[in-house]
Amino acid sequence: MSAALRILVTGGAGFVGSHLCDRLIREGHEVVALDDLSTGSRDNVAHLLSHRRFRLVEHDVTLPYEREVDRIYNLASPASPPHYQRDPVRTTLVNVLGALHALKLAEGCGARVFQASTSEVYGDPEVHPQPEGYRGAVNPIGIRSCYDEGKRCAESLLMDFHRRGVEVRLARIFNTYGPRMALDDGRVVSNFIVQALRGEDLTVYGDGSQTRSFCYVEDLIEGIVRLMEHPAETGPVNLGNPEEFTVLELAEEVLHLTGSRGRVVFRPLPEDDPRQRQPVIDRARRVLGFEPKVPLRTGLRRTIEGFRSALGLGHRAPGL
Ligand code: NAD
Ligand code: UDP
Repeated sequence: MSAALRILVTGGAGFVGSHLCDRLIREGHEVVALDDLSTGSRDNVAHLLSHRRFRLVEHDVTLPYEREVDRIYNLASPASPPHYQRDPVRTTLVNVLGALHALKLAEGCGARVFQASTSEVYGDPEVHPQPEGYRGAVNPIGIRSCYDEGKRCAESLLMDFHRRGVEVRLARIFNTYGPRMALDDGRVVSNFIVQALRGEDLTVYGDGSQTRSFCYVEDLIEGIVRLMEHPAETGPVNLGNPEEFTVLELAEEVLHLTGSRGRVVFRPLPEDDPRQRQPVIDRARRVLGFEPKVPLRTGLRRTIEGFRSALGLGHRAPGL
């Protein structure tokens, strides 16, 4: 274990942030989660609240904050399309001002900053799979641009502060799933599991031939921590699981694993929905020794269990 550090996790009460807090507390660090609880929840960190090395502070990262820390994981941002499109102007500001305030704090106290960027910086990619050197095809005026351009601007700020001396670590995170995703999150894995467990039809947008590569949250956390603690690598580093599936394949797998009586129904494809997405993770493998270990079926089983208890459903469904 590394020496105990003072760590700030913005977005620490969210899906990824709460798993990260668990990991950091397990490693013996002092952790402050900063969160406005807009898409995250106190429940995600309820089990940590009585821990003497953990604190949850309600704060909006568009406003500055002060704290002496060694590390800042900047994760605060709505992350699912329905959430980030609800108030798109705010989404841009959360990403830009959130990064700015994390970086200014780091500059003042000598902390290192990890920025949670996203595969969305590649937009609807013309290059497949996507390496870090690909500069992307984002529609700057579309309904996803508040998130995509907000994250791109955060990357730009991160590297500008780096050029004036701040230690930074930049990860581009690909679709990640697992327990503690919000039930109303709207992303595909949580939607399908909630629908299947409720015996409702699974809403496939478009014809379901679009692809995504799904990473189990535990694998992602390993990559995040390895990058943060790497002595020199600034990134960008893609983090994700390169196993690629169509959305229709995902729906069928969820139906199979839950034994649901729901069927697949087709709904209109949202505007600017990327056709395909798969990370090249050669850099993460080479520099961080990163290797996703949890196959989709195993990760889905664990996630379904998590959602069963979140929905208050007692016993296991067939196929689990
Ligand atoms: P999430 O919505 O569960 O977590 C985001 C957290 O940020 C929530 O707890 C929310 O309350 C908090 N937050 C939002 N605005 C805030 C503000 N103004 N001030 C303080 N806190 C604020 O989503 P997630 O999936 O855990 O995403 C975490 C980070 O990882 C995000 O930055 C997201 O863009 C990035 N990311 C996630 C994925 C993924 O597939 N899960 C993929 C790429 C990037
Ligand atoms: N999707 C779907 N049904 C849903 C939710 C999403 O078919 O109920 C599709 C969506 O159109 C996209 C893919 O699943 O093609 C992944 O969507 P998600 O919102 O999870 O992530 P992102 O588009 O940001 O990768």
